[in-house]
Amino acid sequence: MQHANSKRGLMTTAIHAGETPDPTTGASAPPLHMSSTFVTNQVAGFSAHDLEDDGNFLYARWGNPTVQMLEQKMAAIEGVEDCICLASGMAAATAIFLTFLSAGDHAVISDVSYAGVAELARDTLPRFGISISLVDMSDLAAVAAALRPNTKVVHTESPVNPIGRLTDLAAVSKLAHEAGALVSCDATFASPLGQKSAALGIDLIMHSVTKYVGGHGDAVGGAVAGCKALISQIRGESAIHHGGVMSPFNAWLVARGLSLLPMRMRAHQSGAQVISEWLEAQPQVIRVIYPGLKSHPQYDLAQNQMQNTSGMISFQVGDAATGRKIAQQMIDRLKIVHYAVSLGHHRSLIFWMETQGLMDSSFHLSGTQFESYRSYAGEGVFRMSVGLEDPEDLIRDLSGALS
Ligand SMILES: *Cc1c(COP(=O)(O)O)cnc(C)c1O
Repeated sequence: MQHANSKRGLMTTAIHAGETPDPTTGASAPPLHMSSTFVTNQVAGFSAHDLEDDGNFLYARWGNPTVQMLEQKMAAIEGVEDCICLASGMAAATAIFLTFLSAGDHAVISDVSYAGVAELARDTLPRFGISISLVDMSDLAAVAAALRPNTKVVHTESPVNPIGRLTDLAAVSKLAHEAGALVSCDATFASPLGQKSAALGIDLIMHSVTKYVGGHGDAVGGAVAGCKALISQIRGESAIHHGGVMSPFNAWLVARGLSLLPMRMRAHQSGAQVISEWLEAQPQVIRVIYPGLKSHPQYDLAQNQMQNTSGMISFQVGDAATGRKIAQQMIDRLKIVHYAVSLGHHRSLIFWMETQGLMDSSFHLSGTQFESYRSYAGEGVFRMSVGLEDPEDLIRDLSGALS
């Protein structure tokens, strides 16, 4: 299947992969199968271990046709064999850690990451006898030094939330593979269009599809894409036993969003480029981090590694008190941009993230790791997810809230 489709372009793949006209009704749009169980003509065992991977549907925790349609679309757009969709991005991160790590194993995890992932790694995994090293993944020597004989998973995130720092994915994959570890990458900020994660060596490509993939802010979900053997291990463990599966309705919504992802990402990127350049010229703004700006500390890596620099901008306005004041002005004055967490939607979103607060709640960094964070974030950043509105309207809206 994969080979037959591999010559198709990304727009065609996003629209057609995983779908065919319904054989009984001729419906051109994919059906929504809200069925938790499936009538079977086989006398089979009741355990997941009795099931074959490509067998018929039996029960929706094992697989559902609408969820499978999304999984096939995701796998095709990432250029890998298989994908599993789960109830949230956090369920996807948990699936990676709890499938491939056991008591006595070690994992190397990005020291800055989505806060939920950082807290899961730091607070939960050690309770199960898994040791972790939190490492600045932009520092390849630090990654190499952290690897141990029992390192089973290296988990990175690029660009990283909320500061837009990048990881050299090919270099980190090489180091991890030489040490015999699997590499996973949370590519939520990049979207599947931002970088060719599989070609760069990533074994497990993770997304919160709540963000760019769904793209409309109306469904929570997560995905892990990779080779058939690894994804079927996750399905056996995390879907069937941990149980955090995606609802067919959410899969249908997310697939509808994914169909237009290549077009949306082009618009997110061009809007974010215009807005980041405008922000750089504002007297109230002291620093803008966006991978498409020449001033990004890893601009060359962004040019080499990313096909689309996405729509996520971080910018600073000064000390924490100034940041808080401008955040309040945004809450009071913004008419188009929503002051809210989350990202990747057609609606623009913005949120203030104070450095000290994030350190206390999630990251707990010190020494050179803290200095690296501060070199991107100062005392705090506004994280803006540039939506698909007219950039001129967004600029007028931001302008009224900054002064
Ligand atoms: C939102 C997000 C997650 C968590 O996803 P949910 O769908 O909210 O569970 C993980 N990683 C990144 C980078 C995110 O932005």
